[in-house]
Amino acid sequence: MAKKQFKAESKKLLDLMINSIYTNREIFLRELISNASDAIDKLYFKSLTEGISGMDRSDFAIRVLFDKEDRTITVSDNGIGMGEKELEENLGTIARSGSLDFKKGMDENPDIDIIGQFGVGFYSAFMVADNVKVISRAYGSDEAFVWESNGADGYTVKSTEKDGWGTDVILTLKEDTEDEKYSDYLNEYRLRQLITHYSDYVRYPIIMKVEKHREIPATDEEKAKEDYAPQYEHYYEDETVNSMVPIWKRPKAQVTKEEYDQFYKDKFYDWNDPLKVIHANIEGGLNYNALMYIPSKAPFNYYSKAYEKGLALYSSGVLIMEKCADLLPDYFSFVRGLVDTPDLSLNISREMLQHDRQLKAIALRIEKKIKSELESMLNSEREEYKKFYSEFGLQLKYGIYSDYGTHRDVLEDLLMFYSSTEKEPVTFKEYIGRMKPDQKNIYYACGESIEKIDTLPQTETLKEKGYEILYCTDDIDEFTFKTLIQVGEKNLVSVNDTDLGLEESDEEKSALETEQKESRDLLDKMKEYLGDKVKEVRLSSKLRSHAVCFSSGSGISMEMEKVLNAIPNGEKIRAERILELNPNHRVFTTLKAIYSADSEDERIREYSGLLYDMASLIEGMGVDDPVALADRICELMK
Ligand code: ADP
Repeated sequence: MAKKQFKAESKKLLDLMINSIYTNREIFLRELISNASDAIDKLYFKSLTEGISGMDRSDFAIRVLFDKEDRTITVSDNGIGMGEKELEENLGTIARSGSLDFKKGMDENPDIDIIGQFGVGFYSAFMVADNVKVISRAYGSDEAFVWESNGADGYTVKSTEKDGWGTDVILTLKEDTEDEKYSDYLNEYRLRQLITHYSDYVRYPIIMKVEKHREIPATDEEKAKEDYAPQYEHYYEDETVNSMVPIWKRPKAQVTKEEYDQFYKDKFYDWNDPLKVIHANIEGGLNYNALMYIPSKAPFNYYSKAYEKGLALYSSGVLIMEKCADLLPDYFSFVRGLVDTPDLSLNISREMLQHDRQLKAIALRIEKKIKSELESMLNSEREEYKKFYSEFGLQLKYGIYSDYGTHRDVLEDLLMFYSSTEKEPVTFKEYIGRMKPDQKNIYYACGESIEKIDTLPQTETLKEKGYEILYCTDDIDEFTFKTLIQVGEKNLVSVNDTDLGLEESDEEKSALETEQKESRDLLDKMKEYLGDKVKEVRLSSKLRSHAVCFSSGSGISMEMEKVLNAIPNGEKIRAERILELNPNHRVFTTLKAIYSADSEDERIREYSGLLYDMASLIEGMGVDDPVALADRICELMK
């Protein structure tokens, strides 16, 4: 019988697929099992609609067998089966998945996921096999046929014998090469692993003949012998290797916390129980199940480039993609879990997924769900939320900064910062709720640690007024605040800003202005001595007991300078500094006295330098010449 040729397009494609450097060959089993499951679905559906009696769901099964000697793997089902014509039609043409121009894909991306680009499920068998036989008998027919092909050069269809209806797909594996050990698939452990990885939740049992051991029964007489040792034998037993009903398809009320936790630990290789389980079974317009977890600890590589975000994507229980990044926004990248939705093509490519409207809609719903879960945790499980925040808060803050505040509406309410008055992390909402009647702004201070920030001179007046201050110790904090600018119509003001917007009394205000005017020459002189190191020297209303501090000019702040300059190989930058003096401090009185006696007194230069160094130290910036500073202090102490 003459060989029939594949349709032209199919041939080209098949060639390409078999010969391309396709790394994920193992998916062939998933494809064949999914086809088997579809074939069973079809028959089961037929039995329901046509009222075929004596057919029960539990009669259906998929079998996976292997034979080391013959190098074969067989996937059998007792589904609908195929007649001669169907074998021709279904396996003679490779279904083209529409719009994608495969040539283009190949040119631009040499190791492109070809399977992902085309509907070529069955043909993936040729990635591991050099001969494929499909023996099939359609339900209700007495005739069976065998379709056989050695790959791109064509196929034959002949009549054959087969007990019962259904399909056996028999792959004869290719010879091993240096790069690819096809014989690795001829192994119970490996096949089981592939089945549980990709096809664990296929609705029908996937049965393998599993090798077992048992003790050979002995008589009491034999056992009584002194040299008695138990003897063992191998035997084979059918075992269902897939779990069938996925945990995420079960109603929430029927899943225990232990089951959720165990599933998480097995699937995501975490030792710790998750902090939170989010399980959503959505039906209606959008149809999906989502099972998501918030880990209790950030993975060791979480804040590095190596971490890959994403949710596993299943279509009716079959794994399509381990990590679908498009299902999670970056700021919720810590969430782990999966989404299962029917009606997605198994072979959908990453590019196509990105444009899939259904998937986009699911991603949006998932984002909302995560946010609302976090909010309810924040409101009713504060301790849990604090744990979450200490692990992943950084990511939320980064999320505000990284896209210029585009997603502030999602994230703003979830942020927390340490409060000077509450002595624990608080939200903006809580802060605003506690603001003093005369308080205009939300105040924050940045520094290395809570303790260090707490002693900053710039916070003195605010504290005296009983204003709450948010203490920021993460590098990203100030960048986040500068991106937000405002929260709930209140300005975010750093204690380092020149204008704190403090409602000083009119007397206080005019006293400061008069003092500033009267001391103008002295302040200018100091600025002259300090040169470019400062933008201005001025009097301050922030200080109470301390003599001096810096405030930030326009542009980046000193805290940002520290962060940016800590980036290796980055360009070094310098924040504008304004030296602020406390007009009521004895140091200032002394300066004035010296200046009025002799405006050229060298001590003005010397003290200006000292005050500058002090402000730098307070800011945690270090001084240019610590030895000179020490010497000058000794000089004063003599
Ligand atoms: P897809 O499954 O995406 O349609 P395949 O190339 O995997 O594409 O299969 C082509 C067709 O062959 C299927 O649509 C189905 O009609 C038929 N087919 C494949 N495997 C089986 C099987 N085990 N039993 C019955 N029909 C099958």
